[in-house]
Amino acid sequence: MKCPKCSKEELVDSVLADDLAVKTCKACKGSWIASEDYQTWQAKQPQEKVTPEELGEKLNIEFGQSPLDTRAALCPECSRYLSRAKVKLKTPFFVDRCQQCSGIWCDYGEWDILAQLGLHRSIEQLFERKWQAQVEQQQLLNSERQAMVEKMGDKVAEQVFEIAEVLSQHPHGDFALAYLMRKVVSLQETQRR
Ligand SMILES: [Zn+2]
Ligand SMILES: [Zn+2]
Repeated sequence: MKCPKCSKEELVDSVLADDLAVKTCKACKGSWIASEDYQTWQAKQPQEKVTPEELGEKLNIEFGQSPLDTRAALCPECSRYLSRAKVKLKTPFFVDRCQQCSGIWCDYGEWDILAQLGLHRSIEQLFERKWQAQVEQQQLLNSERQAMVEKMGDKVAEQVFEIAEVLSQHPHGDFALAYLMRKVVSLQETQRR
């Protein structure tokens, strides 16, 4: 079996995570995980899915991708183009998977980063459109909060989040919001005079 990324190199037997049998390329150090081997290994693992909230907290991990990460590749088992799923770290990378045989390709370092994110036990999640959309939504929320902290400082930002939470739950939240707007705007106008 040839390496999907280096094409001339033969893949050799190896293991990931102690007991997951894989085929590894000596040249690029990427690993091919056959679907059957992955499922066998997965069955022995805790059946935990990673929620978008959990993932959102970890996406600041630094990671230097393999230079071959974005290279299109053919499945070493059935020669079809591998699909790619993005892992949206600060420096994003792609995990490749064959739609036909469900085999997975991890470029060098990707398995370890997936393990840090807790995603190595459920790589199929990355290929679910709905889950990816939820992760994106979560990231938007996180960067919105981050921007608030940067502009307002920790303490005020925390109070803003708290009042926003209270008002969004309250049946007359809009009344209080209108009050806040009037107060803030008239205060700013007074200061300008
Ligand atoms: Zn290779
Ligand atoms: Zn395949």
